[in-house]
Amino acid sequence: MVVVGGGLAGCEAAWQIARANVHCILYEMRPHKQTPAHQTGDLAELVCSNSLGSLQENSASGLLKAELSIMGSLLLDLAQASQVPAGHALAVDRKEFSSRVEDALVGHPLIEICRQEVTSIPEGSAVVLASGPLTSTDLAQDLQKLTGESMLHFYDAAAPLIQADSIDGEKTFRAGRHGGGDYINCPMNAEAYAHLVEELNRAKRVVRRSFEPKELFAGCMPVEELAGRGLDTLRFGPLRPIGLVDPKTQERPHAVVQLRQDDRYGRLYNMVGFQTNLTWPEQRRVFRLIPGLEGAEFLRYGVMHRNTFVRAPHILNPAFECRKRPGLFIAGQLSGAEGYVAAVATGLLCGVNAARRALEQPLLNWPVDTLTGALSNYVSQGPCRDFQPINPNFGLLPLMAGGRKTRRPKQAYQALRSMRIFWSQLGNGRIL
Ligand SMILES: Cc1cc2nc3c(=O)[nH]c(=O)nc-3n(C[C@H](O)[C@H](O)[C@H](O)COP(=O)(O)OP(=O)(O)OC[C@H]3O[C@@H](n4cnc5c(N)ncnc54)[C@H](O)[C@@H]3O)c2cc1C
Repeated sequence: MVVVGGGLAGCEAAWQIARANVHCILYEMRPHKQTPAHQTGDLAELVCSNSLGSLQENSASGLLKAELSIMGSLLLDLAQASQVPAGHALAVDRKEFSSRVEDALVGHPLIEICRQEVTSIPEGSAVVLASGPLTSTDLAQDLQKLTGESMLHFYDAAAPLIQADSIDGEKTFRAGRHGGGDYINCPMNAEAYAHLVEELNRAKRVVRRSFEPKELFAGCMPVEELAGRGLDTLRFGPLRPIGLVDPKTQERPHAVVQLRQDDRYGRLYNMVGFQTNLTWPEQRRVFRLIPGLEGAEFLRYGVMHRNTFVRAPHILNPAFECRKRPGLFIAGQLSGAEGYVAAVATGLLCGVNAARRALEQPLLNWPVDTLTGALSNYVSQGPCRDFQPINPNFGLLPLMAGGRKTRRPKQAYQALRSMRIFWSQLGNGRIL
């Protein structure tokens, strides 16, 4: 069996295939050929934020993690082992996470890792394509030939990383929005905030309007795009001061830039919500206007990239298998499931089903009252015309009585109950 792409989805898929006692070759083109966003040759490299989102089961991201945990996801397990403090979120030391994944896969007797670009869809009775949003051109073109559909794309952006000891501790304070001291906060008064917004609007961009705003993914909007939507947009968005009190003034600041720990040792910090398309010198100039970041050393600048995904409702069935080519599974961001945790979930689902295909067993469709099942249902049966990658969310789950606050715990309870039953009936994934 072949898996293409050693990212989040591909690594999880390879592990699940091997877990079913099926031999698997995992192709990864890095470090020989890089993507525009990856920085290393590491497996399962996180391209931007080091956060895998909330751990709380009443959030979609937390619920999906709880489901992954029931299903024995390798990557979730290793993310938890590489965790760094981030309040209720699961943030990881990205280097440690990647090396744990690499150790697990390299050490598995049924997994062979091949560092090579795949330029056309491999032949074979079961193949998982998990080459991600930055799939190399030749492979993307081959996929386009097969699907007969134009591949879609939009633009996505990543935030900068800052060296911790270049942050001014006198001007910043540690606190989480909901208690704890896990974030470094850069408080701003009205004047400093207005100046930052003005400079974000004036700053030079790398891709100057050569894309349409509708091509930007709403969940990862560049900070300068948000700044252009009005003076207060950022203050009600990623720079909202809610839940934070500056210990120096004992007041809530006008706006706050939050920095989240990015590695286990606290040497690197990620600028929360600062994904950007500004040129690197402009990032240095403008972001150093933020109180506490006047001397910031940027270890990675923000970048913006094309993002490739297929028109899934036309192409995939709920098992994430191509309708036109049985045995070809598409996992991760390329399938239109958006975000790190969705990449892991679809990788798991494709790995399990690809192994079943190889073993000539019927494919599985996950129950639609689980978030995993609801996501695969939406991706394979959602709107065809304007299909956009989708983050796992509660709106995909069957409705239940009650308001939003009371409904969510019920939906989460039902999803986990349903997943436990489904998975235990499969012998906890062991009997395929
Ligand atoms: C710039 C950017 C920032 C993002 N930031 C976030 C974020 O902060 N949080 C979040 O939840 N999601 C984010 N995403 C969305 C998405 O969750 C990630 O892209 C995630 O890594 C997707 O996982 P994946 O396994 O599908 O793809 P990837 O993790 O990208 O893995 C695909 C792998 O396939 C390899 N590959 C590509 N083509 C070939 C080929 N032809 N042959 C062999 N190997 C190949 C690549 O080198 C890569 O290692 C971001 C996406 C982009 C593009």
